[in-house]
Amino acid sequence: MSNPQDAAALRAKYLAERDKRLRPDADAQFLEAAGDYSDFARDPYITEPLTRAPVTEERDVAVIGGGFGGLLTAAKLRDAGVNDFRIIEQGGDFGGTWYWNRYPGVRCDIEAYVYMPLLEEIGTVPSERYATGAEIFAHCQAIGRHYRLYENALLQTTVSKIVWSEAEARWVIETDRGDRIRARHVAVSQGPLAKVKLPGVPGIKSFKGKVFHSSRWDYDYTGGGASGGQQKLADKRVAVIGTGATAVQITPSIAPFAQHVYVVQRTPSVVGPRNNTRTDSDWFQQQGAGWQAERMNNFLSVITAQPNGGDVVKDCWTDFFVRVGAAMKANAQSDAPAAPPAVMQRVDYAKMGEVRDHVASVVADANTAEALKPWYNYLCKRPLFSDDFLQAFNRDNVSLIDTDGKGLEAITETGIVVNGQETAVDCIIFATGFDVGATPEKVGGYDLRGREGLTLEAKWARGYRTVHGVLLNGFPNFFIIGGHIQGTKAFNFTHTLAMQAEHAVDLIARCVNENIEAFEVTPEAELRWLAEIEAKQLDQSKFNEDCTPGFLNNEGNFRGKATFIGVTYGGGPLAWERLARAWRADGVERDVAITYARTPQRVGQFS
Ligand code: NDP
Repeated sequence: MSNPQDAAALRAKYLAERDKRLRPDADAQFLEAAGDYSDFARDPYITEPLTRAPVTEERDVAVIGGGFGGLLTAAKLRDAGVNDFRIIEQGGDFGGTWYWNRYPGVRCDIEAYVYMPLLEEIGTVPSERYATGAEIFAHCQAIGRHYRLYENALLQTTVSKIVWSEAEARWVIETDRGDRIRARHVAVSQGPLAKVKLPGVPGIKSFKGKVFHSSRWDYDYTGGGASGGQQKLADKRVAVIGTGATAVQITPSIAPFAQHVYVVQRTPSVVGPRNNTRTDSDWFQQQGAGWQAERMNNFLSVITAQPNGGDVVKDCWTDFFVRVGAAMKANAQSDAPAAPPAVMQRVDYAKMGEVRDHVASVVADANTAEALKPWYNYLCKRPLFSDDFLQAFNRDNVSLIDTDGKGLEAITETGIVVNGQETAVDCIIFATGFDVGATPEKVGGYDLRGREGLTLEAKWARGYRTVHGVLLNGFPNFFIIGGHIQGTKAFNFTHTLAMQAEHAVDLIARCVNENIEAFEVTPEAELRWLAEIEAKQLDQSKFNEDCTPGFLNNEGNFRGKATFIGVTYGGGPLAWERLARAWRADGVERDVAITYARTPQRVGQFS
């Protein structure tokens, strides 16, 4: 019964496939790129290491991170007239994810017109609907130039400490370059894809060939660049570990150049057609002012099942959600409506049937096609879109090594071991992703201390407490941008980053303009937000439980933990934005109890 059709058989198959992959060590199975493995996180892109004297200074704002979260925050600070800010970024340039991820074939499979923020402001015209990483990286740099952010930036600089000084009502930030920056406000935005993770298998250090993580690509070894030309792989046998979003782009990009590519699969991904197109410049130029915000809102409304006035983007992402919406509507109008989860499941089974049919229609070898078929609900893992990944398995020099859910077993001096069998390779690429569930100070790798030395770990030891996922009692003038805990997020991550940046900058600008030294949300405000989170919480435990393990359900260990999808505001990002704006208009006075004037004494209410 390899291809069950009816619901009961499908469910049994899904659960059996999940059970093969559940492991007691859950997310502890991965190795951190630290200590003995810190080389895997080393920056390979810096050609001229920076030397500079340590900076000692005082600033209104410190922005930690120069990816889209930090860039949007800094751009909005400029727009708000708050110019006295410092951006501290570990990499050699702005870009964050797009600075680090330069592997061959890197692209964003969210439409560029909604993903790349500030297109109208900067005047960037994405050349394709799904832009290359290089183009997005260049756009990050253009944002940096347009808003004159380079002059405020300390690049190649890693923050080591962020400590609140109660006596001064200032954050004191220290870095690996001996800088000491005193800032009234701190906005941290390190991103969820910043902490490299490796499979916890024996033997990594013993491998005598070349090995690196996908986000630290070694072009000296492979040759070429992100758009191709890996000629130096012509005599190399390459193992790509993983079949997630990254591996799906790397595999077809290096296959034309390598002697042989072995793709090690633990769980097949959902891979649908992408249908990329060149940007129609007439269409682009005809868009009126404010078009991008409208398009972003429409996309977000569709993929979060909110009223949307019709799907404008109409792409591989929106397709599924439009189908769900139509099925729900038809169900509601039927004489005997079914329970919504049952309707959703019917749509899901049908969609996944199409996904598997697509595999069968593309991949010529029947056994390989069978192994590449995913058996789980559509949103258990991030769906992927590609017009060349599945096709790559029709090449003679690409082999799928399917582990039937067990994963890579070990690495030897000369190769990889799967199912007890060694395959000799010259190069291993870990496309094994990032620790997306880590809290901000863990991703940033700094010591964060709020009032009275409070750590986030201690604060959250008995449960998460924030206001909007952005503000924290115990951490005055501190803002988390892009955090998944009690905040908001969506597949179009830059959109939610922009919402959170707006929230932070609005509050910062008020403090700066009204000469408020420090403010802090109250514990009562955090409890109110917790109640809101609980009231709107979608019960996803059944969904999570049935899913194959992955980072979205904390590798199956989702109960009582902050899964990436589990504890965000259930009303969705657009509702979050309305709520945050309303709170800034009339909730602040109630929820912000500690303010300081020029001297650190409590003086009254935030106006
Ligand atoms: P992922 O975490 O999505 O994928 C990691 C892959 O490694 C999975 O296939 C996983 O298998 C596999 N893996 C992990 N451990 C082992 C093991 N021991 N043996 C064999 N395989 C293993 O990481 P990615 O870097 O692919 O993507 C991370 C995120 O980056 C994406 O979710 C997406 O948000 C973003 N991204 C977006 C892109 C875009 O186009 N917008 C492009 C690239 C990345 P298993 O599934 O079994 O855990």
